Amino acid sequence: MANSEDLMKKIVSFAKRRGFVFPSSEIYGGLAAVYDYGPLGVLLANNVKTLWWKATVQEHREIVGLDAAIFMSPKVWEASGHVGGFSDPLVEDKDNHQRYRVDHLLEEVGVQADEKMTRDEMQTLLDENIDAIREKYPKMGELSDVKQFNLLVKSNLGDFTDSGSDPVYLRGETAQGIYVNYKHVLDSMRVKVPFGIAQVGKSFRNEVTARQFIFRTREFEQMEMQYFVHPDEAKTVYEDWKQKRMDYYTSLGISADNLRYHEHENLIFYAKEAYDIEYQYPFGWKELEGLHARGDYDLTVHAKHSGKPLEYNDQVRGEKYVPHIVETAVGVGRTMLMFLSEAYTEEEVDGETRVVLKFHPKVAPYKVAILPLSKKEELQAVAEPIWQTLSQKWSVDYDETQSIGKRYRRQDEIGTPYCVTVDFDTLEDKCVTVRDRDTMEQERIAIDELESYFEAKLA
Ligand code: ATP
Repeated sequence: MANSEDLMKKIVSFAKRRGFVFPSSEIYGGLAAVYDYGPLGVLLANNVKTLWWKATVQEHREIVGLDAAIFMSPKVWEASGHVGGFSDPLVEDKDNHQRYRVDHLLEEVGVQADEKMTRDEMQTLLDENIDAIREKYPKMGELSDVKQFNLLVKSNLGDFTDSGSDPVYLRGETAQGIYVNYKHVLDSMRVKVPFGIAQVGKSFRNEVTARQFIFRTREFEQMEMQYFVHPDEAKTVYEDWKQKRMDYYTSLGISADNLRYHEHENLIFYAKEAYDIEYQYPFGWKELEGLHARGDYDLTVHAKHSGKPLEYNDQVRGEKYVPHIVETAVGVGRTMLMFLSEAYTEEEVDGETRVVLKFHPKVAPYKVAILPLSKKEELQAVAEPIWQTLSQKWSVDYDETQSIGKRYRRQDEIGTPYCVTVDFDTLEDKCVTVRDRDTMEQERIAIDELESYFEAKLA
């Protein structure tokens, strides 16, 4: 592949052209850092969420699901520290109003800022390194002073003429919904520590920089799992999930060379341990997923602010304690961008460039495409029942326009692992041609055996 900037540009335009990701409200000029998923994007996003759910909830007897509301009492966000501290340090270019995150600017010149730094400390660090930063950004104009920019998105609910009432927020993370429901889950389900609660849902952040496509958006979906453990077991459970999450990505076809752990150097004050799983995106190594050992911080602050005890009465150990939490947290959009970047391939075939998304079959939006050789009725009469049978099990595309060669290319481009061609021989021998996306090899398979053939291939 050419250089990585080119690759990113290609992915962005390809994702739009092929119905994966559209800029939001584009006919009105768009809305920065907000994107819509098109027909193929929805299929891909659903696969991302279903696969995560299976690996996290379905395959773990002690992990249960939750779907908390996006709106929560504003008191939750005060207790959690988001109202006071959920902010990014920001400077603005006075000439063109472009905003930069100060920690990101510093990172680019090899300086690691500390999350706990005050605004003034951040300003000093920026001033000390401004020459090196300007070398990287020669066109950058005069900068504003550093501002702390709160990331919570405010909204109104109910009687918003009452100016004295607290604002409500669109949740900044799904995790808080889990913490405040921890007691409900304990009381309503037959779970015992150690157990986990998992949730997939939208979160909102007033991100200050908005130039990384679906990597960083202001509205995004998170897949988070909070595991509640005895303090003595937190370390072992943490190590276990750290490994499980890495194995999960390689099992879905992500090359181990494009994945790595990144240890947080400056832990937020309550954290016991924090690693990210980073992926090598076209714009560099960036956080894909956060793995955090959060100690008893979350339940303790909610118990304190709400006045409700959140201890666990451990009958087996004969002990009362506040469970420690191990968290895994990843975004749907970041996962999609990883799969798109990993899969996007350009190959020379017979002197032409073939674009192919080499998705793992489990990730691919469509698993199979049914392609009758032409629009002739006798071919449709065979092809449609095949589509009907297979679509009971998988997402299956059906396409009968254009030449077969063009249709194969189109399916390659959207990553469909198998194409089924119904031709005139089919009418005689009741067999179809199955073409493999990656090898482009073809084989004749009896229609009766197609379902079990794909069951084996897609297992
Ligand atoms: P970053 O440092 O990149 O801003 P973060 O450390 O604030 O991310 P967390 O709060 O740990 O992220 O959120 C957990 C996961 O949610 C992240 O690893 C990422 O996959 C996803 N995520 C967070 N913010 C966004 C966003 N603005 N757009 C898309 N995904 C996001």
